[in-house]
Amino acid sequence: MLYALITVLGLIIGSFLNAVIFRLKAGEQFVTGHSKCPACGHLLGFFDLIPVFSFIFLRGKCRYCRKPIDWQYPMVEVVTALVFAIGFYSIIGNQMLSAIDWRIIFEYFTYLIFSCFLIIIFVYDLRYYLILDKVSLTALVIAFLLNYLLGASIVNLLISALLIGGFFLLQFVVSRGKWIGGGDIRLGLVMGAMLGWPIGVVALGLAYIIGAIVGLLLIAFKKKALNSQLPFGTFLTLTTWACLLWGQKILNWYLDKVI
Ligand SMILES: [Zn+2]
Repeated sequence: MLYALITVLGLIIGSFLNAVIFRLKAGEQFVTGHSKCPACGHLLGFFDLIPVFSFIFLRGKCRYCRKPIDWQYPMVEVVTALVFAIGFYSIIGNQMLSAIDWRIIFEYFTYLIFSCFLIIIFVYDLRYYLILDKVSLTALVIAFLLNYLLGASIVNLLISALLIGGFFLLQFVVSRGKWIGGGDIRLGLVMGAMLGWPIGVVALGLAYIIGAIVGLLLIAFKKKALNSQLPFGTFLTLTTWACLLWGQKILNWYLDKVI
């Protein structure tokens, strides 16, 4: 029952994240303004905006202009719901709800906020090859704040952020902006502030491993030419999210089995 509730909440928040992504792209203020069809501009009503279900009932088309609705909308909703449910399982699990532990609830809340930022950055970078400063810098401030409230050491977060951000800055300078974008430097800071030292570096290493594997697979299946760019921010956000939940386990496994 609780999982159903969390999943529904995830769908609703996912729908909100879609709206944020769309309005960031359109350059509107997302706090105000009603939802509109991106194709015809028709204002959308309550029944057009039910996550996933509207997409299914409308058979993927706008009710007013019959233009196809972007697949991004149901995908982000489903992914957000999964992220909410997996996090709940992983952080709270089957603990007795009679003995509510506010610290763990706050930890889960922090995970949800971080995940929402990561989903926005992931989708935006995947589609537009861009990481917006207003998103990454807001995430950076919130990451420091929430982790501090959870008892993390600011020095630890700073070291991790400067290490990863500095690593990208170095590549940026050496390659004169060819290997890495300025957005990745800011994202590096966010990774460090969200995960701290040493987990931030675990996420960084994983991003390179997964990026290399996916890159090789795409070349093998001839989906992308060797020289074309995969947005690296998508790998960084993916592994940062994974390390929010399993970073310590991955690190322990690595220290135990590999070294
Ligand atoms: Zn329309």
